[in-house]
Amino acid sequence: MLLATDLDGTFLGGDPVQRAALYRIINSHKGLQLIFVSGRGLATILPLFEEPLMPKPGFIICDVGATIVNGNSLEPVEPIQSLIEERWPGKKKVAALLAGVKGLTPQDVPQQRRCSYFYNDHTDVDDLKYKVEQLNCDLVLSAGKFADVLPKGINKGYSLQLLAKQYHFTIENILVAGDTFNDLSLFATGYKGVVVGNAEPGLREATADLPAIYHAKEDGAGGILEAMQHFSLLKKPAI
Ligand SMILES: [Mg+2]
Repeated sequence: MLLATDLDGTFLGGDPVQRAALYRIINSHKGLQLIFVSGRGLATILPLFEEPLMPKPGFIICDVGATIVNGNSLEPVEPIQSLIEERWPGKKKVAALLAGVKGLTPQDVPQQRRCSYFYNDHTDVDDLKYKVEQLNCDLVLSAGKFADVLPKGINKGYSLQLLAKQYHFTIENILVAGDTFNDLSLFATGYKGVVVGNAEPGLREATADLPAIYHAKEDGAGGILEAMQHFSLLKKPAI
């Protein structure tokens, strides 16, 4: 199988015992491929590998889909990375146009080819959407406080699909996992998916009618384990 998973609240979330169990399974199944798909920038993902049991992913999709690197070499995956770069107007242009939007504060985190903000109840979301359209970019709102401005058409799900196409992944063996609204694009791919128990209600609602999506009872990593059993993924031949 191939597990393409969000990190915070998902692969890194849930009960520590279940987390350890999931990591053990991944580390002991050589045929199990792993991809991290995170809203974090690469710089804040790398320290995770200081934890000895942390499984090593074959690829890392970060910056909400805007950065794709090989998990071993950390080199950008081309030509996908260049395609994304071409669609990005640049941080300066984005910051200049959005400077006047009320209640919008830049997130002080490492980020590339995307601009991440906090928004609040004072934010005129329609105005924000309009301005992001003017930039020919996409806006992803999640958890009621995060606003990500991304290159047009770029999101976690699309970047994963580009990788799947380039490396000929077996679609039937892919499991995606997530907990917040910026993971919705992963579930829209049509791949098998698990919405973990601690997911934000909006994501549960938005995925309620999708046939390939399993809604787990367990939180985070425990929800991934639950879904692996539900779909009998480890009983199928490795990719
Ligand atoms: Mg998350």
